[in-house]
Amino acid sequence: QIGRCGDELGVKVFVVGGFVRDLLLDLPNLDLDIVVEGDGIAFAEHYARQHQCRVRAHQKFGTAVIVLPDEFKVDVASTRVEFYLEPAALPTVENASIKLDLYRRDFTINTLAISLNGERFGEIHDFFGGLRDLRQKAIRVLHNLSFVEDPTRVFRAVRFEQRLEFHIGKQTEHLIRSAVRMGFLERLGGPRLLSELQHILEEEHPYPAIERLSQLDLLKFLHPSLDLPVDCEDLFDRATRSLNWFDLLYTEESCQRWLVYLLCLVTRLDDDAMQGLCDRLSIPGRYRSLLADERHRAHGVLKGMRRRWRQARRKPRNSDLYVWFEGFSIETLLYLMARIETEDVRRWVSLYVTRLRDEKSWIDGEDLKKMGIPPGPQYKEILRRVLLARLDGKATTREEEIA
Ligand code: ATP
Repeated sequence: QIGRCGDELGVKVFVVGGFVRDLLLDLPNLDLDIVVEGDGIAFAEHYARQHQCRVRAHQKFGTAVIVLPDEFKVDVASTRVEFYLEPAALPTVENASIKLDLYRRDFTINTLAISLNGERFGEIHDFFGGLRDLRQKAIRVLHNLSFVEDPTRVFRAVRFEQRLEFHIGKQTEHLIRSAVRMGFLERLGGPRLLSELQHILEEEHPYPAIERLSQLDLLKFLHPSLDLPVDCEDLFDRATRSLNWFDLLYTEESCQRWLVYLLCLVTRLDDDAMQGLCDRLSIPGRYRSLLADERHRAHGVLKGMRRRWRQARRKPRNSDLYVWFEGFSIETLLYLMARIETEDVRRWVSLYVTRLRDEKSWIDGEDLKKMGIPPGPQYKEILRRVLLARLDGKATTREEEIA
């Protein structure tokens, strides 16, 4: 249908990039990237009129997103060359043909295009050796200035290498090491750096990419004192198990996997360094309190739990668990589970997540009023104490709570 729409408008249409790469590797990929030799926005609008779907257009970049009825999205771009005014700057757009369009891409394996028009449907275009590199399982840039133009590609190279189980080509690795030595990555803005790190930490198994970042001396761009912790692989492994365990609870609550892994990665950083890392990555406010105050408190709780285990070797009261973990986000709780090596102690956190966290006292403010207690801020504290007593089995009915 996309090809037919191109035929009607007399423009060539291609599917490009990650979709083609994954198609040839027989991997699932639902992100369809279309490039139109001509006006991509006009193409998207024509397609949308015919198929009753919505379009979001970005005039400035000549791009559009077609939103199909089932919310499946197709990205449409106009052929263009992006030239960079200075390293790490945003690209400026200019019309050009498909080959020039593909030349601006990051790696050869992402430069493959497939024609969608009539008789040429299915024809593969390989201008830069993408097919060879897919066969050789190699990540290669298209030219020597690639990482200078856009240093985020360094992180993308590592991500693709580890995800696809490819290797970064020799010359490409040499260029990465030069970019690192020459400090090009320092010019990268915080939000872009964060976005790349987030992508890596959202991979199914992020540890190998983190190890590779360390090997290429890239972690220092997140924070100068950031090293791979000695037992980092085990920590990431336990984080994966905690995350999978949480998934299996099928709660409605969403959990940001990348935050749990980020907490693991920075586990040895002190509070000041953590602040520095948040600044460097321009971490948005909503995550800052989790990564700073909450993490600080979690480390205190962790110490307390370890001490308790050493001294008593038995489960604390439910009310203690409640008080320790109260107010922690699910990401911090799963990080805590990852930090704990002892199965019995880890169960203290899982008990809180599955049972204690959502408990509320049976009685409420109305009951307190009926008891003649004047309304005020003390209500919250009274109800909390009632709940803590109940969690320890001191009340098993509403009446007992009242008593
Ligand atoms: P993923 O499966 O992670 O989404 P993808 O290849 O689809 O992988 P995207 O980040 O969605 O990656 O990017 C889509 C395409 O845009 C890529 O195939 C790549 O060719 C191009 N691209 C993305 N970022 C860059 C960049 N920094 N420099 C050059 N090309 C890029």
